[in-house]
Amino acid sequence: MKFADLHMHTSFSDGTFSPEEMVANGQRHGLSAMALTDHDTVEGCARMNEACGKLGIEFINGTELTAELDGIELHLLAYFVDIQNQKLLVEIAEFQRVRQERIYEMVARINKLNVPLQAEAVFKIANCRSPGRPHVGRALVQGGFCVNMDEAFDRFLKKHRPAYVPKAKMSALHGIELIHGAGGLAVMAHPALNQSDNIIPKLVDAGVDGIECFHTKHSPADSKHYLGIASRYNLLITGGSDCHGMSKGRPLMGTVKIDYMYVEKMKAAVADRRAKKGNGEPAVSSPANPPSAVGHPQ
Ligand code: AMP
Ligand code: FE
Ligand code: FE
Ligand code: ZN
Repeated sequence: MKFADLHMHTSFSDGTFSPEEMVANGQRHGLSAMALTDHDTVEGCARMNEACGKLGIEFINGTELTAELDGIELHLLAYFVDIQNQKLLVEIAEFQRVRQERIYEMVARINKLNVPLQAEAVFKIANCRSPGRPHVGRALVQGGFCVNMDEAFDRFLKKHRPAYVPKAKMSALHGIELIHGAGGLAVMAHPALNQSDNIIPKLVDAGVDGIECFHTKHSPADSKHYLGIASRYNLLITGGSDCHGMSKGRPLMGTVKIDYMYVEKMKAAVADRRAKKGNGEPAVSSPANPPSAVGHPQ
């Protein structure tokens, strides 16, 4: 049987593994396919594609966007997007800019509590265009202001704590449009972590393609529940570990491995969408394809 992990973050966002380390982990866990879903960036995709190609692992371009519908935050996973798509690149660059500003705001709030953390220390640790709370947490630990990440989140960073600054959110409808415009599939991430299922029918109306039924934080009952919803609305089924390297204490890769059959269904959906658009480009990459052939709908 072949397995895939379709949700992970490298050091191009808030994970700690390089794309190459992530792929080596994937190989150890016997994965046949991997998708990279860094927050608000596709920068790691080219290197990950190359590393996967060397090991005969199929690679899928992706990203994870923060979105909102009816005041409820949700995360949208994008798969098979063209990583050269200008509209996508321009829009995520703006989210990266806001993430960088948000670091200054979080640090200022921490400084007000007489903790002399410096924004530069956070940016040095992040060393990427898409910094986030885990980088602030790591800087707090490295600076000796907190004993571990849990303390950093509990004292400062989690919602309702003094240094919590909400992230910029894209309207979910716009996010789906943006992903489709870049030739990709839009998938609702970890639905059990959202406040409500009520938004699902609206996402379906907006053209969402799939739902992440399998996730590290989903119980077996959660997965069963969302498999039922996928079947009711005829949605693609995805899943992944949401591995962040060591950022969450231990690498989560291997905790969720989905049947490769789900990837086949995603590829068929992409091919179908592109055929309807009337272009003859191959919809998906295989390990044998050169990196430039990945996800280019033209
Ligand atoms: P941000 O996108 O900047 O709001 O940061 C969200 C990230 O912080 C997600 O990847 C979460 O998994 C991570 N996170 C939330 N709570 C914790 C925690 N207690 N320890 C480590 N990471 C956390
Ligand atoms: Fe994250
Ligand atoms: Fe998420
Ligand atoms: Zn994630």
